[in-house]
Amino acid sequence: MAEKMLQFVRLAQQTPDKREAAARRTDFNEIYSRFEPARAAEQASRCSQCGVPFCQVHCPLNNNIPDWLKLTAEGRMEEAYEVASATNTFPEICGRVCPQDRLCEGNCVIEKGFDSVTIGSVEKHIVETAFENGWVKPPTPRVELAQSVAIIGAGPAGLAAAERLRVRGYQVHVYDRYDRVGGLMIYGIPNFKLEKDVVLRRWKQYEAGGIQFHLNMEIGRDITLAHLREKHDAVFIATGVYKARDIAIPGSELPGVVAALDYLTASNRDNLGDRVPAFEDGSLNARGKHVVVIGGGDTAMDCVRTAVRQGAASVACLYRRDRANMPGSMREVNNAEEEGVRFVWLSAPESFEGAGKVAGVRATRMHLGLPDATGRQQVEPIAGSSFIQKADLAIKALGFDPEDLPRAFGEEALAVSRWGTLKVDHKTMMTAMEGVFAGGDIVRGASLVVWGIRDGRDAAEQMHLYIQHKAAMALAAE
Ligand code: FAD
Ligand code: SF4
Ligand code: SF4
Repeated sequence: MAEKMLQFVRLAQQTPDKREAAARRTDFNEIYSRFEPARAAEQASRCSQCGVPFCQVHCPLNNNIPDWLKLTAEGRMEEAYEVASATNTFPEICGRVCPQDRLCEGNCVIEKGFDSVTIGSVEKHIVETAFENGWVKPPTPRVELAQSVAIIGAGPAGLAAAERLRVRGYQVHVYDRYDRVGGLMIYGIPNFKLEKDVVLRRWKQYEAGGIQFHLNMEIGRDITLAHLREKHDAVFIATGVYKARDIAIPGSELPGVVAALDYLTASNRDNLGDRVPAFEDGSLNARGKHVVVIGGGDTAMDCVRTAVRQGAASVACLYRRDRANMPGSMREVNNAEEEGVRFVWLSAPESFEGAGKVAGVRATRMHLGLPDATGRQQVEPIAGSSFIQKADLAIKALGFDPEDLPRAFGEEALAVSRWGTLKVDHKTMMTAMEGVFAGGDIVRGASLVVWGIRDGRDAAEQMHLYIQHKAAMALAAE
């Protein structure tokens, strides 16, 4: 064991500096700064190099965390980058947006009584150092292959598959209905969690590596899946989930009641310098407004924090359970509170009120009752407790479901689960259609960037095996 490690007894956990809330409220820049190299080495050296590293077990990519922590502690940054990038396509993005408290860091068993190693921040530091030093190279293959693949969707799942397949030498064509690459990493997740240059520089690298992007191209509208199957040797569907869950309460149609993703996309586009009429005319802009966000997940947290930065007059978050039962990450709830968001716990919306446009959300106070069969406490309304929360902009952030893909693609043979997600063989990742694979949110339901990466990498391996097997069979038949 290197002498440099096991420093947790001597060194306390330190996260990178977080900007003051007052400054954060005025811009969309990321809220955490980067580690200084010496600080990163120090923090990495706290790792006790566990024989069975639970951090690694609970990382969806099974990243070799103890190894890259040790290399960072020893200042061997290029090697640390090689280890970190061997299992993760976007370590710098995961380091920023993974809910580490539920994954790697939440399972760091450094020693009872000591805080976990700051794994995510070190991971980000390693790759930022690699970019600065020019160690991150485009995905160029050693040998070009004749076969080609189509990838539908340029989110983390699609991009991870594209990178792996390109390195293997395939001609990789990525199709996306958006005008930029990145999926929800570009139009969903706000800048203050993930600055867009971080995503855009990967896009540049992939183009330099020969991945061909066909943007503003919607499969099912501009081109059919059948056409892609004819043209390419295998297809990967990674289209994500975009259908906003709704609440069937009176007043939902009032102007000023909007869906979370429409609101966040408008904000992200504005930050990218695009002209967004609905942002400019105020319908998707919180400036000067009393904003109410309904929901308790991470999307709701992104909405409240975006509204604060847009200069809302007030921002409240209505959630029907309490803080302890919130699905969103506690880190994000704390950040939102620091930035001035008011949480109205145990409150369920009944109706949107207003004449001609929304003026408030009527809600009922709830209390937590007995646990149900899953062990989760049931919420019950408190009779006569209804109240009105003032709102000129009400944002519904209740989660997402998949679109009806078999219908959108005109392919009834694409089997779906009862939730509408695509069914795949969990070993081969192939859908019910020969040579058509799928992964990411369209298979899992709304999930995480890191799981999208995992699926994309796994699918690339399966697509490679499928194409090579097909080629071998064709050769044998000659
Ligand atoms: P997506 O990222 O959704 O990409 C799908 C792509 O497919 C899109 O570019 C879309 O344009 C394209 N597409 C769809 N249909 C078609 C079609 N018919 N033809 C062509 N292209 C098509 N995860 C985290 O880990 N951390 C976070 O902090 C976090 N924050 C989030 C915040 C918000 C507001 C949201 C909505 C999600 C957040 N997530 C977060 C979840 C994460 O972004 C997703 O799990 C992840 O992006 C899913 O990756 P994907 O590749 O499956 O799909
Ligand atoms: Fe932790 Fe996510 Fe990095 Fe895995 S990918 S080590 S879960 S931050
Ligand atoms: Fe190091 Fe914590 Fe992982 Fe153990 S669980 S190897 S201490 S980071």
